[in-house]
Amino acid sequence: MFCCPRCFDDATLDKIFQRRTERFGECLYCGSEDVRILAPPELLDDFEAVLGAYTESSKGEGKPFAELLREDWQLFPLLQPHALRSLLDDILGSGFHAKRFLIDRSAGETKAAHWGLFREELMRRNRFFPEGNVDLEAWLKLLYHLRMVSLR
Ligand SMILES: [Zn+2]
Repeated sequence: MFCCPRCFDDATLDKIFQRRTERFGECLYCGSEDVRILAPPELLDDFEAVLGAYTESSKGEGKPFAELLREDWQLFPLLQPHALRSLLDDILGSGFHAKRFLIDRSAGETKAAHWGLFREELMRRNRFFPEGNVDLEAWLKLLYHLRMVSLR
Protein backbone atom coordinates (compact mmCIF):
# COMPACT_ATOMS: atom_id res chain seq x y z
CA MET A 1 0.00 0.00 0.00
CA PHE A 2 1.31 3.41 -0.99
CA CYS A 3 0.03 6.90 -0.24
CA CYS A 4 0.50 10.13 -2.19
CA PRO A 5 0.57 13.90 -1.60
CA ARG A 6 -3.04 14.28 -2.74
CA CYS A 7 -4.20 12.30 0.29
CA PHE A 8 -2.83 15.09 2.51
CA ASP A 9 -3.32 18.12 0.29
CA ASP A 10 -0.64 20.05 2.14
CA ALA A 11 2.19 22.13 0.67
CA THR A 12 4.80 20.85 3.13
CA LEU A 13 3.90 17.21 2.66
CA ASP A 14 4.10 17.86 -1.05
CA LYS A 15 7.71 18.94 -0.56
CA ILE A 16 8.39 15.91 1.62
CA PHE A 17 7.21 13.59 -1.14
CA GLN A 18 9.29 15.50 -3.72
CA ARG A 19 12.39 15.16 -1.56
CA ARG A 20 11.96 11.54 -0.56
CA THR A 21 10.67 9.66 -3.54
CA GLU A 22 11.11 9.30 -7.27
CA ARG A 23 8.61 6.45 -7.38
CA PHE A 24 5.38 7.06 -9.25
CA GLY A 25 2.34 4.85 -9.19
CA GLU A 26 -1.20 4.44 -7.98
CA CYS A 27 -2.30 5.63 -4.54
CA LEU A 28 -4.56 3.07 -2.93
CA TYR A 29 -5.99 5.51 -0.40
CA CYS A 30 -7.31 8.30 -2.61
CA GLY A 31 -7.19 6.47 -5.94
CA SER A 32 -4.88 8.96 -7.71
CA GLU A 33 -2.81 7.53 -10.54
CA ASP A 34 0.70 8.30 -11.70
CA VAL A 35 1.55 10.28 -8.56
CA ARG A 36 4.60 10.25 -6.28
CA ILE A 37 4.13 7.46 -3.76
CA LEU A 38 5.61 6.50 -0.40
CA ALA A 39 4.89 3.64 1.95
CA PRO A 40 2.94 5.17 4.89
CA PRO A 41 5.52 4.10 7.55
CA GLU A 42 8.02 6.39 5.79
CA LEU A 43 6.00 9.31 7.19
CA LEU A 44 6.02 7.99 10.75
CA ASP A 45 8.58 10.50 12.11
CA ASP A 46 6.71 13.46 10.65
CA PHE A 47 3.42 12.41 12.15
CA GLU A 48 4.93 11.47 15.49
CA ALA A 49 6.31 15.01 15.67
CA VAL A 50 2.85 16.45 15.12
CA LEU A 51 1.41 13.97 17.57
CA GLY A 52 3.85 15.40 20.14
CA ALA A 53 1.55 18.38 20.65
CA TYR A 54 -1.26 16.12 21.76
CA THR A 55 -1.64 13.71 24.61
CA GLU A 56 -3.60 10.48 24.53
CA SER A 57 -6.85 10.60 26.45
CA SER A 58 -7.85 7.62 28.52
CA LYS A 59 -11.30 8.75 29.63
CA GLY A 60 -13.02 8.95 26.30
CA GLU A 61 -12.34 12.69 26.15
CA GLY A 62 -10.69 14.39 23.22
CA LYS A 63 -10.95 13.47 19.58
CA PRO A 64 -9.47 10.98 17.16
CA PHE A 65 -6.18 12.21 15.68
CA ALA A 66 -7.77 12.15 12.22
CA GLU A 67 -10.29 14.75 13.34
CA LEU A 68 -7.63 16.92 14.99
CA LEU A 69 -5.50 16.86 11.86
CA ARG A 70 -8.49 17.89 9.81
CA GLU A 71 -9.66 20.64 12.14
CA ASP A 72 -6.34 22.04 13.35
CA TRP A 73 -4.21 21.54 10.24
CA GLN A 74 -6.67 21.21 7.37
CA LEU A 75 -5.09 17.97 6.24
CA PHE A 76 -6.99 15.30 4.27
CA PRO A 77 -9.84 17.55 3.08
CA LEU A 78 -10.84 15.12 0.34
CA LEU A 79 -9.98 11.71 1.70
CA GLN A 80 -12.92 9.41 2.49
CA PRO A 81 -13.24 8.60 6.23
CA HIS A 82 -12.48 4.88 5.82
CA ALA A 83 -9.42 5.65 3.67
CA LEU A 84 -8.22 8.20 6.23
CA ARG A 85 -8.60 5.69 9.06
CA SER A 86 -6.58 3.03 7.28
CA LEU A 87 -3.93 5.56 6.16
CA LEU A 88 -3.38 6.74 9.76
CA ASP A 89 -3.27 3.15 10.99
CA ASP A 90 -0.72 2.33 8.32
CA ILE A 91 1.43 5.33 9.28
CA LEU A 92 1.11 5.17 13.07
CA GLY A 93 0.28 1.55 13.79
CA SER A 94 -2.73 -0.72 13.61
CA GLY A 95 -5.64 0.35 15.81
CA PHE A 96 -4.38 3.91 15.98
CA HIS A 97 -7.56 5.42 14.53
CA ALA A 98 -9.55 4.39 17.63
CA LYS A 99 -7.35 6.37 20.06
CA ARG A 100 -8.42 9.81 21.25
CA PHE A 101 -6.22 12.82 21.93
CA LEU A 102 -6.24 16.18 23.68
CA ILE A 103 -3.89 19.14 23.41
CA ASP A 104 -0.91 18.23 25.58
CA ARG A 105 -0.94 20.23 28.80
CA SER A 106 1.81 18.23 30.47
CA ALA A 107 3.96 21.34 30.84
CA GLY A 108 1.16 23.19 32.58
CA GLU A 109 -0.40 26.06 30.75
CA THR A 110 2.88 27.08 29.14
CA LYS A 111 2.76 24.56 26.36
CA ALA A 112 -0.91 25.19 25.65
CA ALA A 113 -0.33 28.95 25.66
CA HIS A 114 2.59 28.65 23.24
CA TRP A 115 0.49 26.43 21.05
CA GLY A 116 -2.32 28.99 21.04
CA LEU A 117 0.07 31.80 20.16
CA PHE A 118 1.59 29.79 17.39
CA ARG A 119 -1.80 29.01 15.89
CA GLU A 120 -2.76 32.68 16.05
CA GLU A 121 0.46 33.58 14.31
CA LEU A 122 -0.20 31.02 11.62
CA MET A 123 -3.67 32.40 11.08
CA ARG A 124 -2.38 35.97 10.86
CA ARG A 125 0.57 35.46 8.55
CA ASN A 126 -0.25 34.64 5.02
CA ARG A 127 3.16 33.28 4.23
CA PHE A 128 2.31 30.22 6.29
CA PHE A 129 -0.74 29.66 4.12
CA PRO A 130 0.61 29.75 0.58
CA GLU A 131 -2.42 27.77 -0.60
CA GLY A 132 -4.67 27.85 2.40
CA ASN A 133 -2.63 25.22 4.18
CA VAL A 134 -0.66 25.29 7.38
CA ASP A 135 3.10 25.10 6.95
CA LEU A 136 3.99 21.80 8.53
CA GLU A 137 7.66 22.70 8.62
CA ALA A 138 6.92 25.74 10.78
CA TRP A 139 4.79 23.48 12.91
CA LEU A 140 7.62 20.98 13.37
CA LYS A 141 9.97 23.79 14.41
CA LEU A 142 7.47 24.87 17.03
CA LEU A 143 7.29 21.33 18.36
CA TYR A 144 11.03 21.25 18.92
CA HIS A 145 10.69 24.56 20.73
CA LEU A 146 7.86 23.21 22.87
CA ARG A 147 9.90 20.19 23.75
CA MET A 148 12.62 22.51 25.07
CA VAL A 149 10.04 24.47 27.06
CA SER A 150 8.59 21.35 28.63
CA LEU A 151 12.05 20.06 29.57
CA ARG A 152 12.86 23.18 31.56
ZN1 LIG B 1 -3.38 9.55 -2.31
